[in-house]
Amino acid sequence: MAVETLIELSAVDKGFKASDGTSRTVLEQVELRLHDREIVALLGRSGSGKSTLLRIIAGLVAADKGAVNYRGRPVHGPVAGVAMVFQSFALFPWLTVQQNVELGLEAQGVPAAERARKAGEALELIGLSGFGGALPRELSGGMRQRVGIARALVTNPEVLLMDEAFSALDVLTGQTLRDDMLELWDEQRIDTRSILVVSHNIEETVMMADRIVILSSDPGRVRAQLRIDLPRPRNADSEEVRALVAQVYAMMTQPAGAAPLAAPAPAYRLPDADVERMEAVLDLLAVAPFNGKARLAQLAEETELADEAFLPICEALGILGLAHLVDGELRLDRQGQHYVHARQARRQDLFARQCRGRVPVINYILDALHVAADGAVPEAAVLARLEELMDSEEAARVLKVAIEWGRYAELYEYDFHTRQLRLNRE
Ligand code: ADP
Ligand code: MG
Repeated sequence: MAVETLIELSAVDKGFKASDGTSRTVLEQVELRLHDREIVALLGRSGSGKSTLLRIIAGLVAADKGAVNYRGRPVHGPVAGVAMVFQSFALFPWLTVQQNVELGLEAQGVPAAERARKAGEALELIGLSGFGGALPRELSGGMRQRVGIARALVTNPEVLLMDEAFSALDVLTGQTLRDDMLELWDEQRIDTRSILVVSHNIEETVMMADRIVILSSDPGRVRAQLRIDLPRPRNADSEEVRALVAQVYAMMTQPAGAAPLAAPAPAYRLPDADVERMEAVLDLLAVAPFNGKARLAQLAEETELADEAFLPICEALGILGLAHLVDGELRLDRQGQHYVHARQARRQDLFARQCRGRVPVINYILDALHVAADGAVPEAAVLARLEELMDSEEAARVLKVAIEWGRYAELYEYDFHTRQLRLNRE
């Protein structure tokens, strides 16, 4: 018997207009299907369009091109049968827990008595019976997200979309809630037929999903997929799970195909990596047990950084020529070797040299500073240049990183009062 397709996206494009009127493609030619009795995890780095994709599926945002179907019917607006859980919980602070959960039903015109009964059931299912009268602020983060989940489940959704639903919680709370959700699913105590979870935590996706879909960035496209046939509940420490985590790390960092996830960033873009963390990762990589070569999964674990923070650091080390990614491993380069063995002052020199040789945006800033008569350039001027190349949010982020790296390298200074960059003249 053929497996039923619940959600089908074909050739979906989505772009947004920047403040200057230029438009930027966020999703391009996205193909995705959600099948009956399937948990799919969507992985991709920050800004790759994961949330946008979920909103398109939920009918909250329209695609520019392509088709979005739910059970063969085109999605034009919010669909009964599809519900979403948000990272921010999105609860109304002035409503009680019970009222927040009932909201999901009010929109559907369900009579009051039935709403109350169903909300009570949903709260019980998720372990919150007795908390109906509480206000969100009286609850812990984990319990608040349970309310967010109850509000989605109360509508008996056939398709449940979870947008980084566990990432605002501390690790243990997030894991507990995730395991509780999986138990409801595996024991079929909820009627949901398909779950799409967005995550940037690789281990989380390996623990949950029947299939992992990896989205590339700029623009977001489906870049790779991986089926996971392990029975649940899965053991995070088992060899199978460790091997899959390593494999997904490799898939996320391998420059395969047109738009690799962590390939050399396009000119002027910089990953979100702070210098201290880069040094910490380098220092770890250099010593036993890694001795200059580490599987990403193991190194990430050793650094205790979330994947969202860890992968940009690997990418930054690659841009700077201090270490490089290959086959899911991070390998120390010769310059990186020099770096870890150098004293602080020498480290800064090396860092400056690598920045000058390999980071276009820092060179652009240095050129501008050299041309300026007084050796100073307003931050706004650099920002304006960056905004020609990327949206303003991204431009501000890149500028912040470039300032941090350049200051550490003592290539230039930044004056917080005048918001000017200034050459570092000794
Ligand atoms: P992710 O969830 O993978 O981090 P998002 O879907 O939130 O990514 O965003 C993808 C890109 O689209 C980002 O660059 C973001 O700034 C941009 N974007 C998202 N929503 C809007 C919007 N309503 N208007 C303009 N740009 C947007
Ligand atoms: Mg998002």
